[in-house]
Amino acid sequence: MTQTAVEAPTFGNFIGGDWRPAESGRTFESRNPADTRDLIGHFAASDAADVAAAVRAAEEALPGWRAMPAPKRGEIMYAFGALLAEHKERLAREMTREMGKVLAEARGDVQEGVDIAFLMAGEGRRMFGDTTPSELPDKWAMSIRQPIGIAGIITPWNFPIAIPCWKMTAALITGNAVVLKPASDTPHCAALLVQLMGEAGFPPGVVNMVTGSGADVGVPIVENPDVNVISFTGNGETGVDISLRGARRLKRISLELGGKNAIAVMADADLDLAVDGILWSAFGTTGQRCTACSRLIVDEPVADDLVGRLVERAAAMRLGSGLEATTEVGPLINGGAVERVSSYVSVGTDEGARLAVGGSPAKEGELANGHFFSPTILDGVKPMDRVAQEEIFGPLLSVIRVDGYEAAAMAVNGTRYGLSSSIYTRDTNTAFRAMRDFATGIVYVNAGTIGAETHLPFGGIKGTGNGHREAGHAALDTFTEWKSIYVDYSGRLQRAQIDNQ
Ligand code: NDP
Repeated sequence: MTQTAVEAPTFGNFIGGDWRPAESGRTFESRNPADTRDLIGHFAASDAADVAAAVRAAEEALPGWRAMPAPKRGEIMYAFGALLAEHKERLAREMTREMGKVLAEARGDVQEGVDIAFLMAGEGRRMFGDTTPSELPDKWAMSIRQPIGIAGIITPWNFPIAIPCWKMTAALITGNAVVLKPASDTPHCAALLVQLMGEAGFPPGVVNMVTGSGADVGVPIVENPDVNVISFTGNGETGVDISLRGARRLKRISLELGGKNAIAVMADADLDLAVDGILWSAFGTTGQRCTACSRLIVDEPVADDLVGRLVERAAAMRLGSGLEATTEVGPLINGGAVERVSSYVSVGTDEGARLAVGGSPAKEGELANGHFFSPTILDGVKPMDRVAQEEIFGPLLSVIRVDGYEAAAMAVNGTRYGLSSSIYTRDTNTAFRAMRDFATGIVYVNAGTIGAETHLPFGGIKGTGNGHREAGHAALDTFTEWKSIYVDYSGRLQRAQIDNQ
């Protein structure tokens, strides 16, 4: 890392334990979305040559790392978790500065990294396989997990510490080496993260990071024949592209894609509770969570009351820099996101929805140099309208009015996504039906759509992914191969399926 004349630091790639500029010498900038005059730093604009160097470093480190007993890998992982906890406040502030989420949420993002590091450190002492009876006498049968090799980790900007940690800790504890390509909107967070990983004691080359665009760095990672598994979080189109490229080389590809998450509020719900959960889920992280609630499905008898309360509260939410203690809603990630959300407001009203609150970029006073957008609610949206079907990834909530549970469940399930859903009801029977019926990887009862915990599997069904899960024990499946082992101690030839007759 070096300082330029304007005091913005320059970061290279982290390869084989060293910081190196891109081989081309090119850089790109990262700026504060709350005030784009604030230059955060210059980062390596890398390409295939840098990816190749990172993969070589990973290859060199891999034999030693996979041979290290998993509990020993776990000790390094514990040290990393402790360092992350120690640096939580500093990282959270840098995260808020780089991607805008309010400080309390940025602290939560780092905390997720701490939690998953400790969970995965423990996996070093579990990593269970099966030991089962053999069908033959004097024969032992068991299965163990083994690392796949080199993991390409491609991450988005909305959880710039948590998501890389979720993926990398699972890959590392199981004995893989990693090459991380962070989002180009949050390279600083990634640089700070891998710096700490180096300090925690991961051997050089076990953790590598290459910054740069999806086309110049992401694609070469996916195409590299020596990268055996790809774990990607991002939008669906990119996921399909990665999947197709990976399929040609029979790679394992784990995808966490978008969502169109719904909260259903039934007529018997505690509306005070629902209002808090809806606002938190729809406008937390400025609606830029993969699990953010973008559809409110409300039972007609309570719809006017609920929408009225939401509109009043949304109109009063304070926008600003996430570093200010009073801010409730930070900026969107970049100018393109502001344009996208704006355009969806028009799409919604053109389809017949009523703009109940918000609907435009916020530019007054201190917001003038940032990418702010007012919390927005569209009422009277129909289940198949575009705003109810397409991922918007911003502070835009579509209200769909329905009659009763069956209609609510049908609306919840009526999208191509299947990540997170929620129901507010006081009726236990209705709650259990929703837990069974809602077609999402995560279901909440009397809570919003956000708030996944690291020790349970995380991921979605349908267009949200391709069947893999992150976090929990399930995360190990992405990064390991099963090996079945038979030990015959009979001292004679025993033929399975034949000699057991
Ligand atoms: P993108 O898909 O645009 O980017 C994600 C990452 O992929 C970035 O690092 C990006 O690089 C890289 N990338 C882009 N194109 C390619 C390519 N062709 N090959 C390989 N890598 C590529 O998503 P966003 O960053 O915009 O993230 C927002 C999306 O992520 C939303 O759709 C959201 O729903 C989803 N998401 C899903 C989650 C889940 O768990 N289901 C969690 C969080 C977000 P670069 O930044 O340089 O363009």
